[in-house]
Amino acid sequence: MRQSKYFLKTSKTTPSDDISINAKLLEQGGFVQKVLAGVYDFLPLGLRVLQKIENIVREEMDKIGNEMFMPVLHPKENWEKTGRWQGLDVLFKVKSQHGNEYALGPTHEEIVTPAAQSIVASYKDLPLAVYQIQTKFRDEPRAKSGLLRGREFRMKDLYSFHSSAEDLEEYYNKKAIPAYEAVYKRLGLNALLTEASGGTFSKYSHEYQVETENGEDTIYVCEKCNLSKNKEIYQEGAECTNCGKTTWRETKGSEVGNIFKLQDKYSKAFNLQFTDKDGSKKIVLMGCYGLGTTRVMGVIVEKFNDAKGIIWPEAVAPFKVHLLGLSGAEERAAKVYKEVKNVFGESEVLFDDREVSAGVKFADADLIGIPYRLVVSPKVPEGQVEVKKRNAEKSETVPIGNLAHILKK
Ligand code: ATP
Ligand code: MG
Repeated sequence: MRQSKYFLKTSKTTPSDDISINAKLLEQGGFVQKVLAGVYDFLPLGLRVLQKIENIVREEMDKIGNEMFMPVLHPKENWEKTGRWQGLDVLFKVKSQHGNEYALGPTHEEIVTPAAQSIVASYKDLPLAVYQIQTKFRDEPRAKSGLLRGREFRMKDLYSFHSSAEDLEEYYNKKAIPAYEAVYKRLGLNALLTEASGGTFSKYSHEYQVETENGEDTIYVCEKCNLSKNKEIYQEGAECTNCGKTTWRETKGSEVGNIFKLQDKYSKAFNLQFTDKDGSKKIVLMGCYGLGTTRVMGVIVEKFNDAKGIIWPEAVAPFKVHLLGLSGAEERAAKVYKEVKNVFGESEVLFDDREVSAGVKFADADLIGIPYRLVVSPKVPEGQVEVKKRNAEKSETVPIGNLAHILKK
């Protein structure tokens, strides 16, 4: 991608109303642009990061469920059936010009449960799991900290359906938890499994919390095994349910995922039943599994940055390579651009071919934070290119032919 033709402009001014690192760096770097409090444009550079995150999530969720896509606009009756038309304070309500009322989906139990009615009839149909990756709406009283708390944000939500509590338990422990761990590992995040209140239906739900200064949750981490507890259930000196130790360290976390055993809460409201082996009718049991993909993007920036800008983990970086062509070496740079695209793929190279100073190009490259920076300048000998990893101190000058080998290793 030629930077001179890209829908991108970095900026020197920091957002005046948001001091979080992710808001500052993502807005200055030209990844996102604020439209209103808690609502952002994802500009081309930011969309590439979000899509890489969501594709990792998709690949891991495909192993434990089927992708579908549900609407944003929900019938009011469904939310009345579960008591959440009145009971959920962050529900966005929309009135049409014809006097009808709708909800904008903050989560999708009210849609997925009736959807399962036409699929689930017999015990032979179970277990099943579906998920989607979608835009959610919540009328948050305080949207803040950039992508960490939006009013419009993206979430992956998966729902599982079971014929028994044992089957739900097994799916939860042996499918959902390993899939979540695989996602966070690939994203380069150390997400702590955290016991949190699970409402009235099970003792705990589990959150995944990433330690971050700007996190809104207070968590207690077991000094021995890293199992965590959310503040609301934590009791001083409590035994760790995993290892039995009683010493905990208090810290701040940002919730990047939350998984629940819903049991029969929503299936009862919609009378979602199945016929069991003995011919009797039973209520289906459900689990739900959320993961905030835009919040994850914000958390990654909170974790991976320095004074100059973002340092993207390779798996989610907007481009693999940032090629800077400096003044006096334009033609050579254009040739290197072709070669580098051949090696790393047409879409993985951002080529700074703008007519601006070397200083501006270097500063922008550090701010944007692409993992590998290549420089072609009059100082670099013909046939060679200067390579620097974003988080390395020093660059090295290497023959172009060796690039693939060096960058891939
Ligand atoms: P929080 O406690 O942070 O308000 P929640 O517990 O209400 O979140 P869930 O209903 O568990 O959120 O949603 C699943 C996931 O969606 C969360 O773990 C989080 O990653 C993400 N998420 C929830 N609310 C927001 C938001 N306002 N902005 C961005 N991501 C969000
Ligand atoms: Mg939650």
